[in-house]
Amino acid sequence: MRGTTTAPERSFLVGLIGAGIGPSLTPAMHEREAAALGLRLVYRTIDIDVLDLPPEAVGELVRSAPHYGFDGLNITHPCKQLVLPHLDRLAPDAAALGAVNTVVFDGRTAVGHNTDWSGFLGSLEAGLPGARRDRVVLLGAGGAGAAVAHALFTSGTGDLVIADRDVGRARDLARGLAARFPGGSCTAIPPEDLPAHLARADGLVNATPMGMADHPGLPLPAELLDPSTWVADLVYRPLRTALVTAAERRGCPVLPGGRMAVLQAVEAFELITGLTPDRDRVYAHFAELTAD
Ligand code: NAD
Repeated sequence: MRGTTTAPERSFLVGLIGAGIGPSLTPAMHEREAAALGLRLVYRTIDIDVLDLPPEAVGELVRSAPHYGFDGLNITHPCKQLVLPHLDRLAPDAAALGAVNTVVFDGRTAVGHNTDWSGFLGSLEAGLPGARRDRVVLLGAGGAGAAVAHALFTSGTGDLVIADRDVGRARDLARGLAARFPGGSCTAIPPEDLPAHLARADGLVNATPMGMADHPGLPLPAELLDPSTWVADLVYRPLRTALVTAAERRGCPVLPGGRMAVLQAVEAFELITGLTPDRDRVYAHFAELTAD
């Protein structure tokens, strides 16, 4: 009797490269959504702290990943910029931003993408629909701040003020943005100058680590929060940060960081597998994982 043969099921191997990523929720989000879609997907963390490797090792790790069968990678702190020279191609948004959080392997060719900026924009549009964003104050000029700034200027913000403890970093980001978005106005300030700028802002975005479990507290004095200004926090662990709580108490519309975390993961999943995840289902799973 002749046996029936079926094509072998396509399976995926995905990884996350970064430092201190043991508690990351991304592996669980990808694996559970893959299972719900009937897909075999294994997601591994490649923690440079655990491996005792310097951040620069990201190049060698990314170059070897396709040899070990990886279909794609997520890249996180502190490797999002360091990985750039080790990629074969960059999607235009990743090239403009100078940061990559997703790598897709097409054979041995490594293509870099950035889903942080689109994840932030999607979360802003879903979480604060119709909110004015002509004038926005951004706290933090690191990789996350750069993604937020790109999202805001791409979607109509005309006036962005960037405050960072490291004013040089804010200036560098503002200079790059001014070159890419010549129609917009971008100003770098030290945090002491926030009161004057916040008084005229439609929205405030926190892209500093302040509020994370290991950086507790507020990134600015609560008295500066005005109910006419919406407040978005990128920090999502805990989901309800000190800033989100303080802003709500002052009557501000708020956008916690969870939705961005989910959307950037959903978009990375789609780039790597070619399948569209169910956003609401991933968000529900994320909410379950982050419930107190
Ligand atoms: P980073 O360390 O590269 O940059 C943070 C910047 O904030 C630094 O330039 C630092 O000088 C500045 N800063 C710190 N405290 C400050 C303060 N009180 N006032 C003004 N500036 C201050 O970090 P990053 O990679 O840009 O990430 C920042 C945070 O964004 C992370 O801690 C993470 O919680 C969050 N994040 C969330 C998502 C998401 O999906 N929700 C995605 C990426 C990052």
